[in-house]
Amino acid sequence: MNFTKIGHIVCLTAAGMLAACNGASLGSESGESAQARSAQPIAKAAAQTVPLPQPEPTPASPPGPATFAFDGQLTQGGWIRGQVPAGTISATLGDQTLPLTEDGQFFAAFDRDAAPNAVLSARISDGRVIESQVTVSPRTWNIQHINAAKGTGGGSEAWWKKREPEWLAIRDARAKKTGATGWQQDFIWPVKGRISGHFGRQRVYRGEPANYHSGIDIAPGNGVAFVAPADGVVVLARNGFSLEGNIIIIDHGGGLNSAFLHASKIAVLEGQSVKQGDYIGNIGATGRVTGPHLHWSLMWRDARVDPLLFTGPMR
Ligand SMILES: [Zn+2]
Repeated sequence: MNFTKIGHIVCLTAAGMLAACNGASLGSESGESAQARSAQPIAKAAAQTVPLPQPEPTPASPPGPATFAFDGQLTQGGWIRGQVPAGTISATLGDQTLPLTEDGQFFAAFDRDAAPNAVLSARISDGRVIESQVTVSPRTWNIQHINAAKGTGGGSEAWWKKREPEWLAIRDARAKKTGATGWQQDFIWPVKGRISGHFGRQRVYRGEPANYHSGIDIAPGNGVAFVAPADGVVVLARNGFSLEGNIIIIDHGGGLNSAFLHASKIAVLEGQSVKQGDYIGNIGATGRVTGPHLHWSLMWRDARVDPLLFTGPMR
């Protein structure tokens, strides 16, 4: 790092600009060989009476961009989608290996507490590594400071005895890989209505932070039908969980999955494939709630992400 910096400073002083500097440092060599190359054909042409057209050996350069091309919601709780460089064998964002389509499309998402910088890296078939910096803009979260002690939130041995298998079922469902391709789609709202709770909101009890709100709450009324926001496979469809009530989890593939909580009715079965817009359940008030609403959360691997950044504002 320091050497590069010093090198640049020296170059800038000597040559006035970086581009000129890079040229100058290689200048004498590349200049000579360029002269030699341009001189050769002339000599050959003079010697040969019938110059034969030489087939140019074309290097097998795979189609596609020379570096990463990407777009998305480059912010905490957001996502990134794009095209890897031509010839990419595998690509990473930080320590995460990225899902790739056959034509080189990739996807990744940023946790609610993601760091402000990330590096995309591609390993190319010819041995090169191509990197691209991604700036992840921070967000301001709704933090409420409460002058009261944080509750235990259950936690008794009897409570945990019921809770543990539920928790394990959710964890195992979210780890399932179904090969679904919904991760490549633009998401739609599972239902439209008043947003009664935003992603990321957090309460702090006398300095002790509680878990932040992991999804978005939509409250259009009890019994209203909701749909799959993208294609996927139902990996969990269970009734009567302690906190979640009646819960559906859909795997969208590529490490991305949706959970839908508090349903009054579940209209799908585990293992069932669903298309974007398919009816999957009805809004209810099951589990730990104060009123009927749909809690929709999205996870990409271990990252909790904001559904609102996947659908865009409700219209
Ligand atoms: Zn919620």
